[in-house]
Formats: sequence, structure tokens, C-alpha cells
Amino acid sequence: MNFLEERITKDGIVKPGNVLKVDSFLNHQMDISLLNEIGREFHRRFAHKHVTKVLTIEASGIAIAYPVANEFGVPMVFAKKSKSINIEGDVYVAEVVSFTHKNKNQVIVSKKFLDADDHVLIIDDFLANGCALQGLISIAESAGATVEGLGIAVEKGFQIGGRVIRNLGYQLESLAIVESMDAATGTIHFREQ
Ligand code: 5GP
Repeated sequence: MNFLEERITKDGIVKPGNVLKVDSFLNHQMDISLLNEIGREFHRRFAHKHVTKVLTIEASGIAIAYPVANEFGVPMVFAKKSKSINIEGDVYVAEVVSFTHKNKNQVIVSKKFLDADDHVLIIDDFLANGCALQGLISIAESAGATVEGLGIAVEKGFQIGGRVIRNLGYQLESLAIVESMDAATGTIHFREQ
């Protein structure tokens, strides 16, 4: 088991509805040394890529993307969830269905912060059905930027997102892939990587 799988085994909580709670160390209370280790690990896995920006989605993607951007020495940009139907101004827009909240959000990135010269590494905390990642890919494409790869802290391998994104031909790196989990017993099994 790697460092993140060990931590999920120790502190992750399986909830009904295929939700894994990691809020004691990853997305509510945050273990900064763990986040820094995640940053170093993604930097190692994408060291051969030319990255000019790290792109994520608020809120919980930000904490993961920050140490990654720090390792690469590049800015981090996060897509903002926007409630307004009529989006004003110079922004790229994508529609994202939230896995956890079951609602639709338009997410936006200002055109000032992403353009055709950018080489983007997309980062998020979880991958379930792939909607958040597809929204971020679509924003990068709208900017004419190159997607260099995608990094995920926790992929739920029993949901379709990982397969969809890999089938699109991208390098997708997930630090932990949950193969199965059981809310009744609390057990979590990881895919061998
Ligand atoms: P997707 O768009 O791939 O269906 O879902 C990914 C998004 O939903 C992530 O940005 C993450 O915030 C949230 N998410 C999906 N599954 C889980 C989960 O099991 N636990 C937590 N904490 N968040 C999740």
C-alpha cells in the first residue's frame, strides 16, 4: 500500500451511496504534510511533461492542486462554480453535475488565466463518474490549451469515470484506486497498481 492508501485505510469512512469520506485529512480538516507528499508524488509522475498551469475545480480540488503547482513552480487556476444563468464577461464555461450534491453547476474560468500557450495538468481530489474532469478538459479545450495529463487523489474504480478518461487517451494518474468498498463493514479494497 502506498502512503495515501494507508491513510484511507486508517481514517477513511465508507458512507452509503458510494461515498468515501476523507474529511479528517483531505477535504475538510487537511493534513498538510500528506498534501505536500501528494504534491511531490504527482510531480514525480508528470516530471516528463511540460506543465505551465495546474487546473482544478473548487472547493476540494484546490487543496490538492496547490502543492502540485508548488512543486512545478507554476500558477494554479481553479474553476469557480457560478450560480448565475447568464454568465457575463470573458470566461470559459462548462457544465458539471456534482456527484456529492446531485446538482448541476456551471463552472467558469476567466479567459485572462488560460490560453492556447498553456500546457495544463488537471488535478482533483476524487474521480467518480468523470463529470468534473470532463468539465475541466472542456474548459482547457475552449482555451486551446494542451492537456498534459490528469492527477486524482482517490479514484473510485468501480465507477465509470476512470475508464472514460483513459479511453479519451489521456495520461490519468490516480494515487489510490478503490476497487470496492462496503458501507456496512467499512472495508475498502484497492486496485493493485
Ligand atoms: P465525478 O464528477 O467524477 O462524478 O465526481 C467527482 C467530484 O465529486 C469530485 O470533485 C469530488 O469533489 C466529488 N466526489 C465524488 N465522489 C466522492 C466521494 O466518494 N467522496 C468525496 N468526498 N467526494 C466525492
